[in-house]
Amino acid sequence: MAMAKAKTKSKSNPFQEYQEALLQKQTQLHDSFQRDKAAVKAQPDDGIQDLADKAASAYSKELNFSLSDTERNVLVLVDEALARMKNGDFAVCQNCGVTIGDKRLKAIPWTPHCIDCQELQEQGML
Ligand SMILES: [Zn+2]
Repeated sequence: MAMAKAKTKSKSNPFQEYQEALLQKQTQLHDSFQRDKAAVKAQPDDGIQDLADKAASAYSKELNFSLSDTERNVLVLVDEALARMKNGDFAVCQNCGVTIGDKRLKAIPWTPHCIDCQELQEQGML
């Protein structure tokens, strides 16, 4: 008779905590895209922007779109991070190869870069 050992395989991924965070973020972003699509169909100005000045409405819309862009970028980064996890390449800076610290990964588990390279990228030097 074979013995059932159901609990052994989930321990094999040392980054499981991050994987869960990534999957959660992925779900969250997918959800907000669904809401985005639904909101566009259902007149986005209706009610939601009560607090905003009418004159600022166009600007707010622009802001919403740029936020969506950011979210879309994050979604791509999340997908890539999950792929790296499969390849055993997770937590490695994709520019300089240094190991990305736990502190940084806890804050941004989908980051492809260490803090130094992130700064270079933000300055457009990467
Ligand atoms: Zn780096």
